[in-house]
Amino acid sequence: MLQLVGVSKHFGELRAVDDVSLDITAGSVTCIVGPSGSGKSTLLRTVNMMEEIDGGAIFFEGEMIGHEVRNGHRVPVSKAVARRQTLNFGMVFQHFNLFPNYTALENVTVPPVLTGRADKAAARATGLRVLEQVGLIGRKDHYPNQLSGGQQQRVAIARALAMEPKVLLFDEPTSALDPELVSEVLGVMRALAERGATMIIVTHEMRFAEDVADEVVMMDAGRIIERGAPSEILHNPTTERAKKFFASVG
Ligand code: ADP
Ligand code: MG
Repeated sequence: MLQLVGVSKHFGELRAVDDVSLDITAGSVTCIVGPSGSGKSTLLRTVNMMEEIDGGAIFFEGEMIGHEVRNGHRVPVSKAVARRQTLNFGMVFQHFNLFPNYTALENVTVPPVLTGRADKAAARATGLRVLEQVGLIGRKDHYPNQLSGGQQQRVAIARALAMEPKVLLFDEPTSALDPELVSEVLGVMRALAERGATMIIVTHEMRFAEDVADEVVMMDAGRIIERGAPSEILHNPTTERAKKFFASVG
């Protein structure tokens, strides 16, 4: 479904993402782990085209995204094509990024309307359905500052779902939460996985990764240094770097 082939992203001399290849099948859950600064966020941002790549290629359902090849040269796709391609991905951030002056329901209904994905009535119907899905229908008229961090993140997940993306990207979705609020968010993500959502999740929640991931990918200094089934990677890492990392995150 989604393929990264030798993707690189540089910031000056820094190789934030360095020759990364990934193969994501429909309905799979991939957890990306690794120390701070290893390029996890940058990698996710290349996938939904928030960062332009410097090398390699990304394919979604067989179509090159972000770039196309013209006369043998790789050139950025047009804005219209980029916009269509971006709609395949829904992103959930560490800091929720909800609109503070919109209610929970407005947070999930406004983006589909603004992007022309749905009219108001359809957006409302979808909005109510996705809020129900994350267990927050009873909070639909609350503003973000009237919700706990866990509830805000569940609204952010609902907002991503309302756009009906084909792949959900999560960048440390529970890292900003008080410990007692983490499990309600992981519970929603687990339910999405069980319903067959395709997800790429940057996380430090190793128990969650072990339970839910089909593949765990460990990054270090912009590169993938270990990958495989969660039980193998988490319990029998082969590199010293990975052994140290997993010992430090428990
Ligand atoms: P992670 O998410 O694994 O903590 P990041 O992808 O955020 O890592 O960052 C990888 C490296 O790229 C870090 O060294 C970071 O400082 C650098 N970096 C990220 N974004 C930028 C940017 N916009 N400009 C310059 N350097 C950046
Ligand atoms: Mg990050």
